[in-house]
Amino acid sequence: MQIIDGKKTASDIREELKKEISDLFQRGGKVPGLVAILVGENPASQIYVKSKGKACEEIGMLHKTEILPNDISEEKLLQVIDHYNNDDKYHGILVQLPLPKHINEDKIIEAIKPEKDVDGFHPINVGRLVIGKDALRSCTPGGIQELLKRYKIETKGKHVVIVGRSNIVGKPIANIMVQKEEFANSIVTVCHSAAKDLSYYTKQADILIAAIGKPEFITGEMVNDNVVIIDVGINRVEDKTNKKGYRVVGDVKFDEVSKKCSYITPVPGGVGPMTIAMLLKNTYKAFKNLVDKNELYRYKKN
Ligand code: NAP
Repeated sequence: MQIIDGKKTASDIREELKKEISDLFQRGGKVPGLVAILVGENPASQIYVKSKGKACEEIGMLHKTEILPNDISEEKLLQVIDHYNNDDKYHGILVQLPLPKHINEDKIIEAIKPEKDVDGFHPINVGRLVIGKDALRSCTPGGIQELLKRYKIETKGKHVVIVGRSNIVGKPIANIMVQKEEFANSIVTVCHSAAKDLSYYTKQADILIAAIGKPEFITGEMVNDNVVIIDVGINRVEDKTNKKGYRVVGDVKFDEVSKKCSYITPVPGGVGPMTIAMLLKNTYKAFKNLVDKNELYRYKKN
């Protein structure tokens, strides 16, 4: 059994981006920029936005956090988005979710220019992914494919069983793995809470992707030998022996399943760290798509 080290892979991606950004800056004097829009004072959202900002700074990416009051009107928020849609310094816009209840999240996501939608949630990007066109893909599913790619795990013709059908993990990873491309081209089954006998499906998996949100839900007897396990779950469970009073576990019962599988992503340190790395990668991609090639490589010939 081999551990898929998401922490190291994410760190490798950040190093690669840092180098590419520095090279491009030296050639053309431009850097990618990401603006994070944070509405209200949700402590978890504040932590996420702060870590995204820190990650940008570490790789030389321009970053700004726009903090807006909890009672901002939907109309005013739409105006802020419109401002950044037209601000050439920022190539990626992310609106930290969840938003306060009086704001329609769908309307806000749809207001982001698809070319700057680095979370990959805009229906244009979702639709382009489904029909196999180039798109900004959402970060956690993109990170899963990147892990499969970097560990050279064969996916072509393999049976990928996904447990979970959320719009941020289950559905987009299904749409990625079914594409006719490298590190996809799989036979895909998507399971959800209506499955009467989940084990019937999970036992057929060559690659099992668990995105359920239930601690240690997938047990050893639910999987076959040599399966590749991608555990997306992040769940807090009480642990009095831990200083914090809890520990974080995945959706997979690691000690049982790791004895049978060929590869496994640990929690923490598997899929989790990949999400921010892919956000940075998406911002860099948006930057390269949006900035005129002549400007990017202005000094190339010198
Ligand atoms: P979600 O929106 O709550 O979706 C959970 C999915 O699991 C639903 O589709 C649900 O089915 C399915 N499900 C629940 N119980 C089931 C059962 N008994 N049998 C089969 N399917 C069942 O969750 P999510 O947002 O996708 O997140 C899933 C997990 O991944 C969470 O632990 C979350 O914290 C974690 N996560 C991690 C990252 C990251 O690493 N960066 C990012 C996002 C999420 P129904 O649709 O029928 O309800």
